[in-house]
Amino acid sequence: MNILLLGSGGRESAFAWKMSQSPLCSQLFIAPGNGGTGAYGKNINLNINNFEAVKALVLKENIELVVVGPEEPLVNGIHDFFAEDESLSKIPVIGPKKEGAILEGSKDFSKQFMARHGIPTASSRSFTSKTLEEGLTYLQSHPLPVVLKADGLAAGKGVLIIDNTAEAQEELKLMLSGKFGEAGATVVIEQFLSGIELSVFVLTDGENYVILPEAKDYKRIGQADTGLNTGGMGSVSPVPFASKAFLDEVERDIIIPTINGLKKDKINYTGFIFFGLIKVNEKPFVIEYNCRMGDPETESVIPRVENDLVELFIATAKKKLKGYKLNISPKNAATVMVVAGGYPGEYEKGKTITGIDNVRQSLVFHAGTVLEGGVIKTNGGRVIAVSSLQDTQFDALQSATADAARLYFDGKYFREDIGFDLV
Ligand code: ATP
Repeated sequence: MNILLLGSGGRESAFAWKMSQSPLCSQLFIAPGNGGTGAYGKNINLNINNFEAVKALVLKENIELVVVGPEEPLVNGIHDFFAEDESLSKIPVIGPKKEGAILEGSKDFSKQFMARHGIPTASSRSFTSKTLEEGLTYLQSHPLPVVLKADGLAAGKGVLIIDNTAEAQEELKLMLSGKFGEAGATVVIEQFLSGIELSVFVLTDGENYVILPEAKDYKRIGQADTGLNTGGMGSVSPVPFASKAFLDEVERDIIIPTINGLKKDKINYTGFIFFGLIKVNEKPFVIEYNCRMGDPETESVIPRVENDLVELFIATAKKKLKGYKLNISPKNAATVMVVAGGYPGEYEKGKTITGIDNVRQSLVFHAGTVLEGGVIKTNGGRVIAVSSLQDTQFDALQSATADAARLYFDGKYFREDIGFDLV
């Protein structure tokens, strides 16, 4: 079958790499793709939030399956657009409709959802400009630090952890008067949880689900988790501190109640659910839901999945995940993200990348790259994810880090310590 994958990051490179290996995949199209995805299929340059443009491509190329990588088109309703269009309604979309994507699109909604279905999470209350005074009073007696979250999508920047009441009150005022635009029209004030974070992923057809390998990502730009937050500087899978007993508890207390909650709320969900978790005194709590896979977690997770990914997506679309068995490699994956100098602040693009052929023991997943006249150049902040799958976690970390060092472009930076805190 002809398949369309939407997105352009390292996550989509990992999906494209894996899907292109399936005998079920005749032609793979990646829109817009990046400088590396052309090796797995055909890149089509279009704006994935322009659904009419996506429709034209789907009809022209006889696409029979659409896989959505990032959250934005999902939150904007791309699945609904397909379902409501006569010429597209039979084409399955992997990724939830708006009513499901709101789990990520609105933190206020997701907190209410968790409260309604008894899913462990930090206690919270939400406020709008109409209830600003109540919010300020609420903060007066709130323990510190306190977490303030813009309700909507704010590119990972809408969460503030503050350890001073007056400052928190000031921030609440700023957020509610438009600091994050519409995304901050509602603000969730949340209890701070102290623990260690990890991510768990499921793929669900709305009735049943499969659990993918868990992962841990590293968000800060600097070694030893210092400096600004980024989209993610690396990841590992499996996660040594997630024991079988802990993961069983995640399934019982979080995954099953979430799937059942969606059913009870009559939300027909097809696609990935990403559970951003925190382990507090051995117990799992949900920090956030995402309606798609994580990046750079996907680059560590997908190489461990031995099943045919296209077959898995078809089973999801046909609601046949019941009894589906995932074969997960017992090997260890580590991903190191190579980024542009200056990222996550200002950075330059258009730098020639060399050394990709020198990578020895890792997979190279392009992210912010572009192919220009036969030359691979940088085209974003996070440039290339280097992922290694090895028998031991230490070997995986060492080889991913060593291979990241084999790439070169002007201003290149990567963290040399990804995952070494865990071994
Ligand atoms: P991202 O886009 O980076 O996934 P986000 O903007 O959707 O994040 P959250 O994941 O809810 O927002 O929060 C971002 C980070 O803030 C979390 O990964 C976590 O480190 C921290 N955080 C959020 N909520 C809490 C909390 N209640 N207690 C402690 N830390 C928290």
